[in-house]
Amino acid sequence: MISTVYFADFKATSRENVPDKIQRLIEAAGIMDIVSKDDLAAVKIHFGERGNVAFIRPPYISRIIKAVRKNKAIPFLTDANTLYAGTRSDSPSHIKTAIENGFAYSSMDSTPIIIADGLRGKSEVAVEVNQKHCKEVYIGSEIISADALISVAHVKGHELSGFGGTLKNLGMGCASRKGKLDQHSNVSPKVKKKTCIGCGSCADHCPGNAISLDFADSSSEDSSLAPILIHQTDQESKKTEGKKRVKKATINQKLCIGCGECILRCPTASVNIQWNQTIPVFLEKMMEYTLGVLKNKKDKSFFINFIMDISPACDCMPYNDTPIVRDIGILASKDPVAIDQASVDLINAEAALTNSCLKKNTLPGEDKFKGLYPEVNWERQLEYAEEIGLGSRKYHLENIKTLTWG
Ligand code: SF4
Ligand code: SF4
Repeated sequence: MISTVYFADFKATSRENVPDKIQRLIEAAGIMDIVSKDDLAAVKIHFGERGNVAFIRPPYISRIIKAVRKNKAIPFLTDANTLYAGTRSDSPSHIKTAIENGFAYSSMDSTPIIIADGLRGKSEVAVEVNQKHCKEVYIGSEIISADALISVAHVKGHELSGFGGTLKNLGMGCASRKGKLDQHSNVSPKVKKKTCIGCGSCADHCPGNAISLDFADSSSEDSSLAPILIHQTDQESKKTEGKKRVKKATINQKLCIGCGECILRCPTASVNIQWNQTIPVFLEKMMEYTLGVLKNKKDKSFFINFIMDISPACDCMPYNDTPIVRDIGILASKDPVAIDQASVDLINAEAALTNSCLKKNTLPGEDKFKGLYPEVNWERQLEYAEEIGLGSRKYHLENIKTLTWG
């Protein structure tokens, strides 16, 4: 099967601005087919962690809402609460952060925010999927209750999945707290004592309070754990200077929620996981969750990817680094696999921006996500998604032309 993915770049003229072009794109791709009069339509976005500004701009989301309203459907903005104790881990904080980031009722065409998994991330529906890893998956109840689902994803790098797009926006992003824990359950990071300099960066940023710093025997290193590329900031470098290098970090596996934050924060690449065994299972579970999200949305789901501000890490981080490649455009499709495949292909066709953290695989045609996270086989998301029937990796790109006066 070859799926159609519609594409529009960010070029605009006085005849048509970018929001107008987005609306033309999604209407051409068939968003109107999946919503009917009085449908309660969930628009699943990521509102952005406080301090991160790479999330999708509210005026773009506004246009998607406008298109949904054309068929007299009733849209609401949604996301599920996070596992970690950031600014979106319960509904009041989540909504407050969303409003601070520009998604206010008044500025979003009177569209409410309804957090998918309730006040504390416990409102969920167990959906039977009967797959290799999961018999049932735990999805935010409002996602399942909605009549239609429009996923709007920001495509970027991700420290555990390599890249994140539609499939991750759905599988991880719609899961309840229990569902997120279930997906992360086999991610058990360990500290290489020999190279740990006791800076405390991992412990400072651990949302599970799972890391302690103690005097330890440096010979207990697990040498089978391979290092990955780490983005070390100047601030982190300074932090490591002048400190006593005697304490070592230890992770309490019972408290660890498998978020991967410590891996990213460590300036010496001392926190690692068994990448070869852990990541494929994590990615496959995430795809099984995506299957659960879409189970009751046959012909009632639609997918949009924004390929802009392509930061190296997730929007859940309270910061975003410079993009790895230029802004490319917007994609829309009814196939969640094809749209992600097209997104990574478009990104990999680009040259890396010289001011980004990407220092490997920088040329057009080279794998940018492998360059960022050499130990992560991001492709497994797409392979497995296709295997379990979520969609097709084969696609045809339909270009939406820029309107000019000529
Ligand atoms: S993965 Fe690391 S940062 Fe996340 S909860 Fe576990 S120990 Fe803490
Ligand atoms: S961030 Fe890395 S070097 Fe610093 S204490 Fe944690 S494991 Fe050790």
